[in-house]
Order: sequence, then C-alpha cells, then structure tokens
Amino acid sequence: MTDAPLTRLPAVDVTARESRLRAGFAEAGIDALLVTRLPNIRYLTGFTGSAALVLVTPDDLLFVTDGRYGQQAAEQLSEAGVTARIEVGLTQQDQRAQLGATVAAGCDRLGLEAHGVTWAQQRTFGDEWFASTELVPTDGLVEGLRRVKEPGEVARIGAACAIADAALAEVAPTLVEGPTERDVALALEVTMRQGGASGVSFDAIVASGPHAAMPHARPSDRRIERGELVIIDFGCVVDGYCSDMTRTLSVGEPGAEATRLYELVLMAQQAGRDAVRAGAECATVDAACRDLIAGAGHGDAFSHGTGHGVGLEIHEAPRVAASARDTLEPGHVVTVEPGVYLPGVGGVRIEDTVVVTDDGADLLTASPKDLVLA
Ligand code: ZN
Ligand code: ZN
Repeated sequence: MTDAPLTRLPAVDVTARESRLRAGFAEAGIDALLVTRLPNIRYLTGFTGSAALVLVTPDDLLFVTDGRYGQQAAEQLSEAGVTARIEVGLTQQDQRAQLGATVAAGCDRLGLEAHGVTWAQQRTFGDEWFASTELVPTDGLVEGLRRVKEPGEVARIGAACAIADAALAEVAPTLVEGPTERDVALALEVTMRQGGASGVSFDAIVASGPHAAMPHARPSDRRIERGELVIIDFGCVVDGYCSDMTRTLSVGEPGAEATRLYELVLMAQQAGRDAVRAGAECATVDAACRDLIAGAGHGDAFSHGTGHGVGLEIHEAPRVAASARDTLEPGHVVTVEPGVYLPGVGGVRIEDTVVVTDDGADLLTASPKDLVLA
C-alpha cells in the first residue's frame, strides 16, 4: 500500500491567488467579484466546507458563511495564511446585510460567476441583495487561474494518482475470481481510502462485456467473465485534488477482434500523449488520437473528447477536444483518454493523467497497460 502521503506534500501558496484574481478585474469590467462556486472558494481561501460566499473587492476579502462553519473558516483561512473579514450570517437576511453593505459602499460593477449562479440566485442578488449595483456576468475568472497548477497542486494530484495505481494493483488480480462490477468498484474505493485518500473523485465505472460499450456505464451486479473486456475508470481525492485513470482488462485472452481494438486504442492513447507539450493546441492532441481511430474505421465509435483538465474538480479546464480552442501550457494537468465503444461487442478506453512540461508530458498515472490478466 501507498504510505499516507499528506504529511510530506509540499505546501500550496493560497495567499498569492487573490491578487492574481484582482489583476483580471479590469479586463472583466468589474471592480469586485462575488465567488459562489465552492471549488473556487477553496482555491482562494483553503476553506473546505459546503457553504460560503466570498466577496473579493480591490483591497479586501469578505468571507461569509453560516453558523456551522464559523470556527472551521477561521481555522482554515488562518492555516492557509489568508487574511479576510469572516462574518457568520445565521440567516439569509444576515448574509445579505453583510455583503450588501460592503458592495453598496464602494462597488459599481459586481461580477457574478455566470456558471455558478442559478437563475433564482441571480434574481435574488439583482432585486434584493445588490439592487443598487450593476451585476456583471463573468466567465471562468477563478477557473482560469486554476488551469496552471503549482508544484504543490501537481504533488497532490500525483499522490492521488499513486494511491489509485496501488489500489488497482491490489484489486485487479481479484478479477479472476469472477466478482461483480459492483464488488470491484467497492474494493477500489475501500483500498484507496485505506491508502490515504479522503474519498473517490467520482463514482467508479466498472463496465464488463456488453456494458463496456457504454462509455459511462454504472457498475452493476453483473459478474465479470473470462475473455471479455472490462473498462475500469476511477480515481480518488487527496487534500482536495482529484486523480483520474482508466484501464481496460481481460481475464485471459479476449479474442482477436477485442485484442485488435485494444491495440488500436493503446496506439491512439500513446499518440495523444506524444502530442502533449507546452504550446500544443488541445484540438491537435485530440486529432492525434482521433485520426488513428478514424483511420481504422472506428471514428464514430470514439464518442467523446480526448481529455479534460483535472484538479480540485474531476473535470475542469482545459478541455482536450476537437472543438477546444485552448493551448497547453506548462503546469496544465490533463487526461488523455481515447475510447472505442461497439454496441453488442464491448469497448476499450485507456486513460492517463499527465502534467504538461515544456517538451512533453510527465505521466502521473503509472499503472501498467497490459490487457490480459493471467
Ligand atoms: Zn476517467
Ligand atoms: Zn477522465
């Protein structure tokens, strides 16, 4: 098993993020931002609770939470070195008063996170909370900062990947005993938690035989049989950071057609990884995988993008897809996960998480890619 890694992880510099965020205010046409998305609040303050609103003004950080989280917020913000005014608002009216007063006192254009605010919230904010202030939709201001990972963040994602690698090494051999898909998913989760993860980064996909033809099949009570393809897509969380990996396995030889399919996806995945480097367009990485699969006649069966960013969220920017307009930069952490799904036959997906470097990509997921389990 992996040693509990948390104590040896390098620190993350939470305090520097606030000023980087403010540097984008002018271009976004705002003089303050109300941060409502919890992963963004965690990124800016270190707070891990489930309820908070953070108002970032030009020279202040106002952190508003409810009665459950006052003490936790004080401790976590202090631990992260973040200086903020922390207000506990026991009711919506209290929180409205706390935030509204600060906004009314010096904010003409208040940014809202367009992708994190519901229609109902927007109406409440506009009609009641901040009625005298112009509300401005903003798009991914904090998410934009989160794209490039600091070394401490890469270390956390790497630790989560290492725990997942160790869990698969422990659980994969049990496939020969014919467990159900659900058994395998549960064993992976338990093993990752025992290895030091705080939880899963998403519900594991364990898709065997015909189920493997569905890219996001739910683990069922179906028993895994010899000679069929089994897609296992899973990950865990270490100190808030996610891991993501897929392997496709078969107990014994799966037959010529399945083996050919596996070799094709393996080659495509390698081509995608080879295309990852700073300066490469995400669409080019996608094409590196897709062209090979399409060339083999399975273009329509590769029914999703090649990959996505991974960090505090399991899916974050940048996207690695045909329609993506992003360019990779050093410190981006992305997955490369081509797949081919043939209804009635099965499917193959192979996924690694990599960190982008100047001249290539460093693998964070290290599990072997052997198809056949003895
Ligand atoms: Zn995955
Ligand atoms: Zn993924």
